[in-house]
Amino acid sequence: MTGHAPLPPSVHELIIGKKTNIAAPGQPIRLAQQEPLIWELESAVKGESTGTGEATNGGPKVPLSMSALALWERITKTVNEQWPGRNQRALQRLSVGQKIHAWAQGDPDYVEEVCAVWCGQIKGLRYRVHALDAACPECGVDTVYEVDEGDPDGRVYKPALVWTVERAFCRACLASWVGFDEMKELAGVINRHV
Ligand SMILES: [Zn+2]
Repeated sequence: MTGHAPLPPSVHELIIGKKTNIAAPGQPIRLAQQEPLIWELESAVKGESTGTGEATNGGPKVPLSMSALALWERITKTVNEQWPGRNQRALQRLSVGQKIHAWAQGDPDYVEEVCAVWCGQIKGLRYRVHALDAACPECGVDTVYEVDEGDPDGRVYKPALVWTVERAFCRACLASWVGFDEMKELAGVINRHV
């Protein structure tokens, strides 16, 4: 194998992080390095395991993304089964990103195809909105409603507190908890209240 070929774009975005232009329109290009998507997924998964570990009884009332967890497990399983070092015990402690890097060096076209799908799935998780089964700690509201468009007297009820992998927020008072640390704090507060 020869040196280090440049990584294909989706592999790069998944394990190194994409460079994006953050300059205002018309200004010279300023590139910023984004966090690798695999880290973003990993923190979404770790967020939930930390939270559920703290919940003793009454079940988890914390940001919990089964879809993030399922995707994380699917990715790590596929990588562990297919990367070139899979049969070498001493290499199994490498991070999933390092394994994907080694795998992409050997089979760039196939790995690029697989990583493109994973990148799309991780980005898709960012915008999925999940309900939280608890009252908002800021305003105490647990349900909001919208007027049913088909029936002016009808109401559509929705949980007030919802979250995405990036933030949690309350539809009633618009309080928000942005990022992993704040969401973890919210999870703790909710657990104390129920
Ligand atoms: Zn609220």
